[in-house]
Amino acid sequence: MSVAFHGAKFCWMNGEIIETEKALVSAMEPIHLSIFEGIKAYVENDLCDKGRLNIFQWKSHIDRLWRSAAVCGMKMPYTKEELLEATRKTIRANGFDMNVYIQPRIWPRAETPKEVHIVIPAWTFETILGKDNTRFSKERRFIVSSWRRIASDALPPQAKAWANYGNSALAMREAERLGYDGAIFLDNRGFVSEGTGASIMTVRNGKVITPPVSASILESVTRETLVKIIPEDLGIPVEVRDITRVELYASDEVFLCGTGWEITPITSIDGLPLGKEYPGVVTNRIAEYYADVVARKVEKHKEWLTPV
Ligand code: PMP
Repeated sequence: MSVAFHGAKFCWMNGEIIETEKALVSAMEPIHLSIFEGIKAYVENDLCDKGRLNIFQWKSHIDRLWRSAAVCGMKMPYTKEELLEATRKTIRANGFDMNVYIQPRIWPRAETPKEVHIVIPAWTFETILGKDNTRFSKERRFIVSSWRRIASDALPPQAKAWANYGNSALAMREAERLGYDGAIFLDNRGFVSEGTGASIMTVRNGKVITPPVSASILESVTRETLVKIIPEDLGIPVEVRDITRVELYASDEVFLCGTGWEITPITSIDGLPLGKEYPGVVTNRIAEYYADVVARKVEKHKEWLTPV
């Protein structure tokens, strides 16, 4: 991702606000079963401005964190409400009034593996959603990775566990080595799965298509949001079904979606240009509307935004 992130001075760790550089644990702690969540708080009304912040889809993110913990056999020592307060405290302690990315990280303690460390670091970031004409001007050339997405009988793609990201990192490195901007995974059946840290959607003949959860994808909060708002609010049909590699190449538009990647259009896959114009009309329309939703401008979706 080419978006600039800036680390925060303070974070929340195991119950208190501390300086981020002092958020240390022993190198002897186990790391293979750690989990995390990636959440954004956006400025209300104008994403490029400073002002009141709202956390987007807090409930869906925190519910997924609890599911990830359950899959990895960890018991959360705080309630969801307490973690919301901890998140608010982190943002306030840093005095942030611009878009913030937070990433609660949780991992078992070496001595008492049923107990966990929890840290909530934060970063400010520049959203690519709020820049109108220039936001998608950059070309994004992707490959289909030679690495397959982890299969759910080996590692659970539906849990946001760090172990899964070794898979993503290998695909990213392969793309970089070959001179591309990013990679798309096929699942172990050979169908399109997702990006290295984002869901994928294609546009064909005016219809948006995205792979099902059974294609080894993370149950993305952004994907879930888009699957609801694209047909209901924009009147564009959405199909959730397996996508073949050939369909991907023959798409009019392809974009990635996720908390980090927001709505990120792709220019070409394996050197084959996608569609006639970049970014495509449908992707642009979806991105514009999504920007309004996260900025709390859409009345019917205000409940998705939790005030800091
Ligand atoms: N897939 C993977 C592997 C991811 O890491 C992410 C980012 N969390 C996504 C999809 C998108 O999920 P979300 O919309 O919940 O951020």
